[in-house]
Amino acid sequence: MSVAPIDLSSDTQTRPTPGMRAAIAAAEVGDEQQHLDPSVTALCERVADLVGHEAAMFLPTGTMCNVVGVAVHTRPGEVVLADRLAHVSRAEVGGAAVISSVLLEQVDGERGRFGPEAVAAADHGGAIHRPRLGLVMLEQTHNFGGGTVWPLERYEAVAAAAHERGAPVHVDGARLMNAVVASGVAAERWGRPVDAIWLDLSKGLGCPMGAVLAGSSAFIAEAWPWKHRVGGAMRQAGMMAAAGSYALDHHVERLAEDHEHAALLAAGLVELGFALERPETNIVWLEPTDVGREAVELQAALVERGVRLSRVGARLRAVTHLDVDRAGIVAAVERIGAEVVGRTGGGGRDGA
Ligand SMILES: *Cc1c(COP(=O)(O)O)cnc(C)c1O
Repeated sequence: MSVAPIDLSSDTQTRPTPGMRAAIAAAEVGDEQQHLDPSVTALCERVADLVGHEAAMFLPTGTMCNVVGVAVHTRPGEVVLADRLAHVSRAEVGGAAVISSVLLEQVDGERGRFGPEAVAAADHGGAIHRPRLGLVMLEQTHNFGGGTVWPLERYEAVAAAAHERGAPVHVDGARLMNAVVASGVAAERWGRPVDAIWLDLSKGLGCPMGAVLAGSSAFIAEAWPWKHRVGGAMRQAGMMAAAGSYALDHHVERLAEDHEHAALLAAGLVELGFALERPETNIVWLEPTDVGREAVELQAALVERGVRLSRVGARLRAVTHLDVDRAGIVAAVERIGAEVVGRTGGGGRDGA
């Protein structure tokens, strides 16, 4: 007997809802790269406004927002400061180095969040043999850090430390709206202290694709040649931008449900013997060794039981999203329990 799989591998696994599909079908479109697509223009204006910047650009992926942001903000041979577990450090196949010839200086933040002292340490005060600090990158929320939210004060202090040293700040806001909903701090307050910030439409917002990169008019003007260079200038992209506008109307406040579901999932997993803190947003990382298991093997066993998790190294990740409701979370905990309790004879912290 097979059970319907519950896919917690990523919030990218969402499918467009009927309402979103209707918005896509109804979208007015034109040639995006000639600035003639009204749906793209509307989305960009809206996101620029949302994050308190002058202008924005629609790109096919969030990775491309990071590539373009680094390219515009740096010169070859400069240092880009980022957390060691940041997406730019761990999940972009070295794109910043390949495309922009920069050095990535990776610092150990506290679950992805470092402090102004890390910026100070990366600034070598013009020493002639040292590479210049060219850019500071922050990730909000922090994916590999566990969906963690930067506290506003620390975020502002890091941005100020960068600016004091003449380095701009670029924010990978793939899950910015999760941070907004979890913190109650408006997107504009996260946008204002930094030079560029983007959000992904294809994660918790539930769109098929797309990301929007915002900054000053001068920054976006410089970003345009890069958008063309890396193949990100599109044509009738308004169909995807319309999905984005629909998501901003309908899928932002509901992220709170994903966060509740992540908390419910984490609580259930603690009962099964995993050592977890209450998640700050929609991401839960598991250590299979907590229940005496190994990541590759446990991931495969859970697929057999109808639960998909993703894996990075020795850890497994569960991400809650639009397409998994509360009943799905309860069922996922039951299925994981059947696997780890059944196989280990554990069933609690002590048993593990
Ligand atoms: C997913 C993700 C990206 C990349 O976005 P894509 O749209 O998948 O290219 C970048 N940064 C973070 C933190 C992410 O989670």
